[in-house]
Amino acid sequence: MLEVQRDLLDYQGSGTSVVEISHRSPAFMDIAQRAEASLRRLLNVSEDYLVLFLQGGATLQFAMVPLNLSVQGETVEYLDTGLWSQKAISEASYLRNVHVVASSTDSVPDASTWDRSSNSQYLHITSNETISGVQIPDYPLDDGVTLVADMTSDILTRHLDIDKFGLVYAGTQKNMGPSGVSIVIVRKDLCREPRQGEPLYLNYRIHAENDSMYNTPNTFAWYVSGLVFDWLLYEGGVAEMQRRCEEKSRKIYRVINDSSLYFSTVEPAFRSKVNVTFSIRDESLTDKFLTKAAEANIVNIKGHRKVGGFRVSLYNGVTIEAVDALVDFMETFEREIA
Ligand SMILES: *Cc1c(COP(=O)(O)O)cnc(C)c1O
Repeated sequence: MLEVQRDLLDYQGSGTSVVEISHRSPAFMDIAQRAEASLRRLLNVSEDYLVLFLQGGATLQFAMVPLNLSVQGETVEYLDTGLWSQKAISEASYLRNVHVVASSTDSVPDASTWDRSSNSQYLHITSNETISGVQIPDYPLDDGVTLVADMTSDILTRHLDIDKFGLVYAGTQKNMGPSGVSIVIVRKDLCREPRQGEPLYLNYRIHAENDSMYNTPNTFAWYVSGLVFDWLLYEGGVAEMQRRCEEKSRKIYRVINDSSLYFSTVEPAFRSKVNVTFSIRDESLTDKFLTKAAEANIVNIKGHRKVGGFRVSLYNGVTIEAVDALVDFMETFEREIA
């Protein structure tokens, strides 16, 4: 934040703000290239993959993935583990024949039970369901299908073997920086030429050929994301972030498991290490919990409006000390108030 503040007034002694420089200027080209290089290092991305910095959020990828990786009339597969999967499925259903291989909102159905189709162009998964707090613990599938993942809420919080995927995408706003950029990491051979009747803007190859500057990019979000990547490298990279997420989530789940007040509806094996969701058995205490928490300076823990309860997001910016304060509060609340 301090670095951003400084660069906002005067970018590296240039006399202009980082938001005043042109995206075509050498200074911004350097920012852009370094951000990509740092992200490649963090995730160990090989030269077989493109790293794109696009706009339109993860939501636009719900359409771009089917548009680029299949053609009309073809079948594409989706695993439904919650609300974000369902949004991706709705969008794809307008464009292609969508086949849902399995559906659950409190667990991840075992891959051996998935109803697979024989001719799918890809299989889409949501690695972490941000709203319900369901996370896919590992990616066992190795049967040749092109795996595509929406990793918006857990990218850079856990080990990722990019070679297992055809395409991975994520909005920057959860673990990478401000909103306004979406990262797409896609295997080069999956990027085909645009076809007649398709918008050029929605084609990965067009963006790649233009270094993700086919139109004016969100330079500020791109720049801040680059700073965050460097910070992550400095802190020990993805392995260290994974260790921290495990430690942070373990502390909260321990309170939930030991409690007669708090409970989680997510099956233990699939509880997210990034978005911890829980509720209170006596629902009339929900508002009181939030009020008392706010008095203890604990905010932004209200569950998503569609599911209620509480949600604690443990993105990389959240410290262990903050989690300790929450754990302390949860224990005190149960002991003294409930
Ligand atoms: C937040 C989120 C999205 C939506 O991202 P936008 O950038 O707002 O489009 C999509 N998928 C998941 C898993 C998310 O957590």
